Amino acid sequence: MTSETTAALRARVAELFPALQADLEALVRIPSVSAAAFDQAHVAASAAATEQLLRDAGLPDVQILSAPRPDGTPGAPAVVARRPAPEGAPTVLLYAHHDVQPPGDPATWDTAPFEPTQVGERLYGRGAADDKAGIVAHLGALRALGLPDGADLPVGVTVFLEGEEESGSPSFRTFLETHRDLLAADVIVVADSTNWSVGVPALTTSLRGLVDGVVELKVLEHAVHSGQFGGAVLDAVTLMSRLVATFHDEAGDVAIDGLVVASEPEVDYSEAAFRADSSLLDGVSLAGTGTVSGRLWAKPALSVIGMDVTSVAEASNTIAPSCTAKISLRLAPGQDPVAADAALAEHVAKHAPFGAQVTWRSGEQGKPFLAAGDTAAMRAARAAFAEAWGVEPVDIGVGGSIPFIADLLEVFPEAAILVTGVEDPDSRAHGANESVHLGELQKVVLAEALLLTKVGEGL
Ligand SMILES: [Zn+2]
Repeated sequence: MTSETTAALRARVAELFPALQADLEALVRIPSVSAAAFDQAHVAASAAATEQLLRDAGLPDVQILSAPRPDGTPGAPAVVARRPAPEGAPTVLLYAHHDVQPPGDPATWDTAPFEPTQVGERLYGRGAADDKAGIVAHLGALRALGLPDGADLPVGVTVFLEGEEESGSPSFRTFLETHRDLLAADVIVVADSTNWSVGVPALTTSLRGLVDGVVELKVLEHAVHSGQFGGAVLDAVTLMSRLVATFHDEAGDVAIDGLVVASEPEVDYSEAAFRADSSLLDGVSLAGTGTVSGRLWAKPALSVIGMDVTSVAEASNTIAPSCTAKISLRLAPGQDPVAADAALAEHVAKHAPFGAQVTWRSGEQGKPFLAAGDTAAMRAARAAFAEAWGVEPVDIGVGGSIPFIADLLEVFPEAAILVTGVEDPDSRAHGANESVHLGELQKVVLAEALLLTKVGEGL
């Protein structure tokens, strides 16, 4: 690719950007929260609005489709738009999602969550970043490459905009299998992650997986008087606390045998930034060992996310007969969730304090993601980022999970998967005051247009 091509595309994206921002704002005004307690008519409305945007962009074949969820109810509407590949050229699947997280308490927002508001270079609103910015990135790249007539678009494209990502993608696997022919591609771009910082692009090369479950600990048939029996038997909350304490070693690393630890990332997250971002209180030391980014991306992390105990208000002088805790374990890239669940079950059984009866009930399981080596598609993406930003990109991991990526890999094992970012560390996806940096979004659009051009030139 010549530098004139890049300069021409950069100018074209700049010219198109005001209209793209207006499209993003129109999408943010639709409160498409996919959580079941919210009105799903808004999710249908955002599917219809994105369908119209793709039609107007000149994609010849646009449909709203859904697949059944495991419980038999219909999945949320997804939008699929296609433009077939020129003879012999590859096809690229462009993924984003049009549903959003609930807004939370509007009082915690500085602006109305569904009224897009620009402050400086940032556009605030629920979904402005996650992931309506992803939709606009795909749309912008296609417009920049000359759609509707598509004179400069050298690849086939399939745009796939899911409607239930924020609700755990319950119909995703069935959707992929049902529409396998429609979605099959050589390269898959998942525009739903983050860049390293404002000004520094990133390719997400790993994501952690997740297993959770419930430990139940029983010590007595029923509650008894703590004066009459205390001293010769420990209550179930104390025993559960002793069991929970065995999940970590003295340094705060997870101490469950057999869990995978991946290799250290190439970039580190400074302790000062971590303290500020996480709101860690003065005097509290960090847990774990190794680099901070390694602890967040490359190692397992275990949290107790719920416990059933008598509340302080209802406390009486009795010895609790049982205690239940919900455990969430984030998995390092490369970890099989079934093996992690078995390791947790074995750990719980082996560490039952004072012979208390413990049982492990397995819950959700989500697979981690680890990019397959260093593919030609990844090198093309990094080169596109470097041209768009004028700064070399970094490979990053993400401590959270996007379990549907494992489904994409399993259904389309031949495809190269690229997880790209529209967010930055100030985007506050899922939180109050979510925002996208408009200057960065413009670079994301340019980078995607450059990437499609490079894929068309051959990987
Ligand atoms: Zn998202």
